[in-house]
Amino acid sequence: MNKLNQLSMVKKVTEDIYLLSIPVPFGMKQMNCYLLRGESGFTVIDTGVYSIEGMDIWSRIMDMGVAIEKVVLTHYHVDHLGLAKWFQEKHGVPVYISNIGYREIKRRQKKDYREYVIRLFNQHGNSDHYSPRGSEYDQYIYDFIPNGLFDEGQPIRLGNEMYEAIWTPGHSADHFCFYQQKQQIMIVGDLVLDKISPVVLIESPQDINPLKEYFISFEKVEKLNVSIALPGHGKVIENVNKRMEEIRLGHEHRLEEMITAIKDEAKTSFKVAGEIYGKGKTHKSAPQLMATITRFIYLESIGKVKSQIRDGILFYSLAK
Ligand SMILES: [Zn+2]
Repeated sequence: MNKLNQLSMVKKVTEDIYLLSIPVPFGMKQMNCYLLRGESGFTVIDTGVYSIEGMDIWSRIMDMGVAIEKVVLTHYHVDHLGLAKWFQEKHGVPVYISNIGYREIKRRQKKDYREYVIRLFNQHGNSDHYSPRGSEYDQYIYDFIPNGLFDEGQPIRLGNEMYEAIWTPGHSADHFCFYQQKQQIMIVGDLVLDKISPVVLIESPQDINPLKEYFISFEKVEKLNVSIALPGHGKVIENVNKRMEEIRLGHEHRLEEMITAIKDEAKTSFKVAGEIYGKGKTHKSAPQLMATITRFIYLESIGKVKSQIRDGILFYSLAK
């Protein structure tokens, strides 16, 4: 079963775990899928984006005689879930996602799923009319019923080993990590990345205070002994606690910048995002506006700032 070693985009992580790096035409430019060896085939963690290139890579792997037992998803975002339906429909491979992930899939099936975030952006002063990007394939890729669902704390077999499904919301409401105590391996998806700080997102009315959730997710992971963390993008992380601390400090630095930005006058998230990221220029990045919105919501929840609505637009000022 060493066929996987013949592929340049595949790297061996442990005796039974392989990392497959798949190109992504946007965002992080690549993503990591993991193949975990099992008696009845490999368990695939995350699939890559829906693309000809991605399908070619997986077809090549299957044509080499590598059997795939099932697909398990860390969360519902397009780069992770993109080929799940293709695996299920074209190859009869069962797909597993969390119960919350399935809720998110059903939400994405609706044509107007982007409306909520567009309204949110406008409410936070977005006057540039940029909107969250969707995939042109959304109508296809989210149109399936998972074969199995899991919940927080549930044991789940990945390859030959038992893992624990750990709910780690923040980057997305449905984000899960998988932890294997025996070898202290954790599949961390987009909870922790080696080079960049994962964006913390509001995607539906259910996402109340995702940055707070994100920090709680860090606390959950910190309590476990992890000697190797396998992220959804970039390099494998050896000291996950240290990396989480760096990410947390990065957020704290931004939170302080935001507090400074509003010390003399009330401002919108849009204005503050422009000042912080764009050095005063109007910025055009939806993720940066989103990051600023989730941070203001967090700051308000801990009593550091207060919001006020003027003509339907939220302004933040220091809480006294
Ligand atoms: Zn993601």
